[in-house]
Amino acid sequence: MNNPLLQNFNTKYDTAPFSIIENKHFKPAFLDAIKNAKLEVDSIVNNSNQPTFKNTLEALEFSGEKINRISSIFFNLNSAETNDEIQKIAQEVSPLLSEFSNDIRLNKELFERIKFVFENKEQFHLNKEQFMLLEKNYKAFVRNGANLDEIEKIKLRKIDKKLAQLTLQFGENVLAETNAYELIINDVSQLKGLPEGVIEAAKLLADEKETEGWVFTLDYPSYVPFMTYADNRPLREKLAKAFASKAFQNNKYDNQNNVLEIVRSRHERANLLGYPTHAHFVLEERMAETPEKVKSFLNDLLKKAKSAAKNDFNKVAAVAKADGILKFQKWDSTYYAEKLKKKLFDLDDEKLKPYFQLENVLNGVFTISQLLYDLQFEEVFDIDKYHNDVKTFKVTDKHGEFIAVFYADFFPRKGKRNGAWMTSYKSQWKKGKENSRPHISIVCNFTKPTNTKPSLLTFNEVTTLFHEFGHALHGMLANTTYPNLSGTNVYWDFVELPSQIFENWCFEKEALNLFAKHYKTGESIPMQLVQKIKDSSNFLEGMATMRQLSFGLLDMAWHGGDPTNILNVKEFENQAFADTQLFPDVAENCMSTSFSHIFQGGYSSGYYSYKWAEVLDADAFEAFKEKGIFNKEIATKFKENILSKGGTSKPMELYKKFRGKEPSVDALLKRAGLTG
Ligand SMILES: [Zn+2]
Repeated sequence: MNNPLLQNFNTKYDTAPFSIIENKHFKPAFLDAIKNAKLEVDSIVNNSNQPTFKNTLEALEFSGEKINRISSIFFNLNSAETNDEIQKIAQEVSPLLSEFSNDIRLNKELFERIKFVFENKEQFHLNKEQFMLLEKNYKAFVRNGANLDEIEKIKLRKIDKKLAQLTLQFGENVLAETNAYELIINDVSQLKGLPEGVIEAAKLLADEKETEGWVFTLDYPSYVPFMTYADNRPLREKLAKAFASKAFQNNKYDNQNNVLEIVRSRHERANLLGYPTHAHFVLEERMAETPEKVKSFLNDLLKKAKSAAKNDFNKVAAVAKADGILKFQKWDSTYYAEKLKKKLFDLDDEKLKPYFQLENVLNGVFTISQLLYDLQFEEVFDIDKYHNDVKTFKVTDKHGEFIAVFYADFFPRKGKRNGAWMTSYKSQWKKGKENSRPHISIVCNFTKPTNTKPSLLTFNEVTTLFHEFGHALHGMLANTTYPNLSGTNVYWDFVELPSQIFENWCFEKEALNLFAKHYKTGESIPMQLVQKIKDSSNFLEGMATMRQLSFGLLDMAWHGGDPTNILNVKEFENQAFADTQLFPDVAENCMSTSFSHIFQGGYSSGYYSYKWAEVLDADAFEAFKEKGIFNKEIATKFKENILSKGGTSKPMELYKKFRGKEPSVDALLKRAGLTG
């Protein structure tokens, strides 16, 4: 078969030839690419010469190139332009791909060669980037048990299997409990306070469930508006309590035992691999490095934010009190916060949207990138795309040198998943004289244009565009030798720095003046609106910070010590929460039993990174604020030490080169209005 995926693309900039790729090409292409990659690995393993960095690590790094390109095209399509057929292929090829990568990770001969290089690294005179690549590969094997003896390996596989089952069960229980609950309202007076759209959605839900009246559930799109707007306090209490007692009801979906089993198994696994706790194991490959550092980070922030949190609490409680609520409770919080917000800011999306026409915002993003990093964006029409909505750009530097291809796919449609993300179709790397430049894409679900109106973004959508574009800059400006250390291939608690820092420009008058112009009159956004945006973005930030810290501390409590003697989930949780609780405890509620981030998803010992990333971006942006938000010297430092460097050094080293010091929490406290 003439399969375009298996041939040289022969396209402009070597871009993906979407117009000639058919679904039937994928599976045979994957099979063929996997076969070839296996041969490449075999030839590394069977090399009769002594292992060297070049014949082992570098050879491995540049093997499987075809798989990577086919995978990126295929899985990006599966996210942005999927259909039943693509989903079916995904189900067929995903196991093949994980089998292939497992075969590599469990390949003893390959590990022996890598280990030899690792243990004799001095003789290879490696530069920093090469050392990072060596360490990354060595650790990937070791953290998967490669250094254990056979009996220990069997034990590790058993724990892994058990953990996979436990975390799956945890998630299924949360889902079952979420789905099992519904609040049915038959009395129209009980809907008081709810916006019309929310009431309509509740009616639709009732129709779907073939019930009379209006239905609310524990899913966020139903739950959050009810807690924000429903005047009926007893119903808010009822729904809030149901929400917070998921998998904590002593029924067959109860997760208390699963929580204990999960933390014990994780601890056992960490010990087997030589780490004191699960958190030590996880944090070894994070910028924060140790549980001690994470705990002191969280506690430091807590100490500094606590009085602001209490002030916030008192402010909202006062609004509630004026409404006759003497004992301010959890289920009053969002409701009265909304009332206070309305009173203070009265800022609604409709007032802001005319200033944020998509094309203007995108041009603003381009202009800012030019001012900071000398990048030029030119829309081009000679590159294949997977959908007509996609825009394609050629990116060059100030000398006209080609830097990257940039794809932008903005509007929702059937076959695109929700949310917004950055991704790539081709990674950046260097081989000999060749510098392979990347193909970067951002995919969003923004407000669509209509026949009479262009796409006008909410302010939230504006910050989302800046966020994803910040990730895209990390990809486009990448300039490293090895693809697995390039661009966004960095430690997990470092990857949001380029994206979050870029959001800061949306709040600066100097930057907004470049693009925030009324789509009809061309008038710049009024300063008073900008100030309101700033103020409202800090609204009740003390309370929000406290909440994030409480989750981070709970996560570290579960994973940063020996859990053997923990017997009661709720009691343990209350101890962990002791310093962070503003509201009275609700005895029938428990957070841990539905804390999917850390017990089902990949955030165990990682919840802190939300705040960590904010601290980083605030501290880094402070450098710009000190010298001007378009200061070339700072921008160049950021580009040279962070945006172009990927994972070629430890993040803290990169950061210190940019900033001259470790990050401190002060800039965040200042930005969020949490000081004194
Ligand atoms: Zn992000």
